[in-house]
Amino acid sequence: MPDPLRICALYPDVMNIYADRGNLLLLERRCAWRGIGFTVTAAGLGDAVDPEAHDLFYLGGGQDRDQVLCARGLVDVKREALHAAAARGAVSLGVCGGYQLLGHSYALGDASIPGIGLVDLETVRADGPRLIGNVAIEVDLPGAGGARVLAGFENHGGRTRLGPDAEPLGRVLRGHGNDGRSGFEGVRSGTVIGTYLHGPLLPKNAWLADHLIELALASRYGGPVSLDPLDDSFESAAHLSAEKAARENR
Ligand code: GLN
Repeated sequence: MPDPLRICALYPDVMNIYADRGNLLLLERRCAWRGIGFTVTAAGLGDAVDPEAHDLFYLGGGQDRDQVLCARGLVDVKREALHAAAARGAVSLGVCGGYQLLGHSYALGDASIPGIGLVDLETVRADGPRLIGNVAIEVDLPGAGGARVLAGFENHGGRTRLGPDAEPLGRVLRGHGNDGRSGFEGVRSGTVIGTYLHGPLLPKNAWLADHLIELALASRYGGPVSLDPLDDSFESAAHLSAEKAARENR
């Protein structure tokens, strides 16, 4: 494949906790092992985004105060471009704080942080305890080879409710998920995916990384892409260990 996979890291210096950088590194490694080039462009506070120039947009986790810092600019400066990119099939992945900002809003007491409305959901910061711990969900993404398990770690005060136009990413097997009650975790809508799983998401779920790379390259080339398999013995061990931790609720 002659052209590189082009990543846009949104607010990498602000929205970046719990190994978000590791998620990008994992994508880079899995491309490199297959001879696929890889570029990362950072789009920070005030930076405009070219919707045609990137195949995958990544928005990582952040504390409430970090979300306040970047949410207004995300809406005013980048919202339109991110909608245009999603409309042409580019991938957007939001993790935890980033996931919340893909929705309509995040209510924090009397204040409300706006989101970019790429998916139909709202988040409310509850008075109750933070939802913390190892988590496993079952997902069945079209084109990803049937039902699979995603394993990771969650730590959020926000409770996310999906609207009628949103589909959950998966069903909670262990852990809290979107709100600790619905039994759902994350969101997906076309090539937009949001999840509370981090800690880190992609190194523990290499199959999802490959699926995202395939989707992102497909949007670039205008047709389906199928990656060569890799020797995933370390990645499988990491996945099994994360899944075991969730099942044993450690
Ligand atoms: N600040 C958000 C919450 O507490 C997201 C946290 C995170 O990204 N870990 O709900």
